[in-house]
Amino acid sequence: MEIKQVTVIGAGTMGNGIAHVFAQSGFDVTLVDVSQEALERAHSTIERNLDRLIKKEKISEEEKQATLERITTSTELTSGVARANLVIEAATENVELKLKIFKSMDEAAPADCLLATNTSSISITQIAAVTKRPEQVIGMHFMNPVPIMKLVEVIRGYATSDATCASIMQLSSQLGKIPVEVNDYPGFVANRILMPMINEAIITLHEGVAGVEEIDTVMKLGMAHPMGPLQLADFIGLDVCLSILKVLQDGLGNPKYAPCPLLVNMVTAGHLGVKSGQGFYLHTPGNKDLVVAPHFQ
Ligand code: NAD
Repeated sequence: MEIKQVTVIGAGTMGNGIAHVFAQSGFDVTLVDVSQEALERAHSTIERNLDRLIKKEKISEEEKQATLERITTSTELTSGVARANLVIEAATENVELKLKIFKSMDEAAPADCLLATNTSSISITQIAAVTKRPEQVIGMHFMNPVPIMKLVEVIRGYATSDATCASIMQLSSQLGKIPVEVNDYPGFVANRILMPMINEAIITLHEGVAGVEEIDTVMKLGMAHPMGPLQLADFIGLDVCLSILKVLQDGLGNPKYAPCPLLVNMVTAGHLGVKSGQGFYLHTPGNKDLVVAPHFQ
């Protein structure tokens, strides 16, 4: 089946980026969100990101206009998926919500439509099981920021067919991305490896082995990571890191994934990183200098 019409559910951080890359690659995109405000914000973000590409001379003004014209928005899921060849769900990370959305999508989307999710940690197999087409359900895990990051982690659920997987691999390449096929186990590959590293950095800090800047500097300069693990945790959101570690701990049953008590305390205190203004570092809008949070000075 040729994929032409793509619907993206959820217009937040990831949804607007996914809509952007599909539209820029020539697909007709319907962006659906329960919040009209989120749709408007997504539209301005996409426009701003396209303007940046014009400044860098990567696209022309005409390409920007054509990209924007390919995107329509809707607050109605049922009509939004009615003509789709592929739906990518990028709504809030919550199991109950995603199961509900997949049930509705399964009822409203055409029978041959593929259903993908951008979830970071929820089982693809569990999501697929609430639909009548589990062989057409797959994980398409884009990285943030979507227009820039090359990787798509393509996750095969237990029942995903070879044909569905082949279509999504090919489609990801068409978007200029590099797809990597993995199987559906907790954390997939990206978060199964990244989150224990972040947790270990927090344990190292908690045990007083080294300070925030020292830990991040060792990993940046010693391992050639573009950003240290504590700074990265602040960007991802400490609440998100905690919830993914719990998924690894519950799903794999190994105590090595137990979240560091310091991480638990920080989340409980509302120190969530960039989104709350402070985590391991202080984050003030407009200030790009790295300043260690007072708690760790
Ligand atoms: P976000 O909070 O920025 O956006 C979520 C959007 O979903 C919101 O605009 C919200 O209004 C909308 N929404 C909620 N319920 C809805 C419904 N029933 N129908 C339609 N829209 C609905 O979240 P995000 O960071 O963009 O994450 C989205 C998904 O992508 C999650 O599954 C997350 O795990 C995954 N993900 C996030 C990142 C990241 O770095 N942020 C990276 C990879 C994957």
